[in-house]
Amino acid sequence: MTVPPSETSQTGFVYLVGAGPGDPGLLTLRGAECLSRADLVLYDGLVNPLLLRYSRASAERTNRADGPAGRMIPQEEINARLIEAAREGKVVVRLKGGDPFIFGRGSEEAAALTSAGIPFEVVPGITAATAAAVYTGISLTHRDHASAVAFVTGHEDPTKSSALDYSSLARFPGTLVFYMGLHRLPLIAQSLISAGKSPDTPTCVVSRATTPRQRTVIGTLARIPQMAKEAELHAPSLVIVGDCVRVREQVEWFEQRPLFGQVVGIPRPADQGDETALRLVELGGDPVLLPTIEIAPPENWTAIDAALARLGTFDWVVFTSVNGVHGLLGRLWETGGDTRKLGNCRLAAIGPGTAAALAKYSLRPDLVPVEYRAEALADELKPHVVGKRILWVRASRGRDVLPLELTAAGAQFEQVVVYQNRDVDQLPADATRRIENGELNWIALSSPSIARNLARILSPQAKSWLGTKTKLVSISPVTSAAAKDVGLPIAAEAREYTWEGLFQAMIDAEKCKALGE
Ligand code: SAH
Repeated sequence: MTVPPSETSQTGFVYLVGAGPGDPGLLTLRGAECLSRADLVLYDGLVNPLLLRYSRASAERTNRADGPAGRMIPQEEINARLIEAAREGKVVVRLKGGDPFIFGRGSEEAAALTSAGIPFEVVPGITAATAAAVYTGISLTHRDHASAVAFVTGHEDPTKSSALDYSSLARFPGTLVFYMGLHRLPLIAQSLISAGKSPDTPTCVVSRATTPRQRTVIGTLARIPQMAKEAELHAPSLVIVGDCVRVREQVEWFEQRPLFGQVVGIPRPADQGDETALRLVELGGDPVLLPTIEIAPPENWTAIDAALARLGTFDWVVFTSVNGVHGLLGRLWETGGDTRKLGNCRLAAIGPGTAAALAKYSLRPDLVPVEYRAEALADELKPHVVGKRILWVRASRGRDVLPLELTAAGAQFEQVVVYQNRDVDQLPADATRRIENGELNWIALSSPSIARNLARILSPQAKSWLGTKTKLVSISPVTSAAAKDVGLPIAAEAREYTWEGLFQAMIDAEKCKALGE
C-alpha cells in the first residue's frame, strides 16, 4: 500500500508527472498540486520551464530540447538520482513531456522505484498526439474518416532487431500517428507505400505543437518527406497519416491567434512577469522575460509607518502602481492593521492594473482617470483637492507631475516612498543570446525607466536589430519620448496605457503588415 506524503511527513516520495505537450496550460490540476509540494523537480527537455512557477523547489533539467546540445543524462543516472533524493526524504517530482507512459520510459522509472522500495504516484499527461491533433485542427477519429487510431514510434529500439510491421500498419483501418519519426520520415513513407498504403494518403507533420513555434506541413504520403525537408522543420515533430487530415482547414484555430509565433521581450521584474507572459502565450506569442528593473523594499520603513499611523486623516490616498498598493497595504497588514485604518479616505488609482490590485484588498477606487497617466490623474483630482490632505503612495523614482499640479491646485500634498525600483546591469544569458541572434520580433517598453535602462544595457549587437527585425512598442507617449531621447526607435505605441494596450498595438501593427500597408 502506498500512502502519499502529508505536509509533515519525513519519508521520500516520487510523483511521475506528465507535463503535457508544451503549452503550459495543458498540465493537469493534479500535476500542479504535486509541483507545489515538491522539494526537487527533475524535468526533461520537452517540458516547458514556465511550469516551474508552480513549484518553489529547486529544479534540474535532465536534457535539452533544442539549442546547443546539452548532455543527455543516461536513464540509469536519472533513476539513481530519483532514488537517492527520495531516500534523503525528499518529495520529488519527475516531470516528463506529454504523458509519462507514452513513449516516455516513465514505466521504466516506475519499475526502478518499485525495485528500490520507493513509494510513488503516476499522474497522466496530455500526450503529444492528441494535443498536436487538436492544435492543428485535426480529429484523429473523425467518424467519416477513421474508426481507430494507432500511436507508433518512428524510432525503434536499436538493441532489438524486430522492425515495424509495415504491412499491418498499411492495412490499419484508421489514423496512424508516428512519434519520433521526423528524421526517419523518408523511410516511414516509403515503407508504408511499398506495403500498399496509397501514396495519396493525406499526411501532416506538426512540429513543436501547442507552442508559439508550432508549424504544420500538409501533403500526401508520397510528397511529405520532401516537403518537410524544404520547410526545415525541427524536433519534436509528429507525423499524422490518414484521411482525417483532410478536414483540417475547417477547424484550424490555434495558428490564427493574433500574436501567433511572435517572440516578445517582456521587461518586467523577475518575480512579476508571469501573468504578462501567460497572457502573451494565450494570444499565441512566445515570451522572453527581460527583467530590466528590479523592485526592492524601501531602505527603511520609518516614513511608511508614520504615514500608516495617520492613514485615516488623509482625504485622498493616491496609488500609481500595483507595487505601491502592495507596498502600503502589505505593510499595513504586517504591522497589525487592516483596511479599516483607511477610514473614510477616498482612493484614486492611475489605471485598471492598480485598481485590480486594490480589489485584492476588497477596495474600490473612487477615481480612475479616463486616460491612464499622471497628467490625466492630476486633472481629474484637481476639482476635489482644494484644501484637502492628499497622500501619494509612490516608488523611489518617477515623475513629479502629481506633487506639482496638485500643490498648485491648493492641496496639502504628502508623499511616501513604499518601494524602490532599481536598474539591473545585465539581462539573463539566455535572453541576451536570443536578442543578439535577432530572434525577437518585439520588445515592449512599459515605462520610461525601462526604456532608459534597456538602452544602457543592450549590447551593440542586440541594438543592431532594433527597428528592423526587433521592433519596439511603447506603452505611452511619455515612454516613447524617453525612448527616443536615448536613441531607441519606436515602431508602435499603445492607445490604452496598459499591457493589454501594448499587446493590442502589436496586434494592429502585425495586421497592417499582413495587409501590406
Ligand atoms: N511522452 C511523450 C512522448 C515522448 S517521445 C508524450 O506523451 O507526448 C518524444 C516524441 O514526442 C517526439 O519525438 C515527438 O514525436 C513527440 N512530441 C512531444 N512533444 C511534441 C510537440 N510539442 N510537438 C510535436 N511532437 C511532440
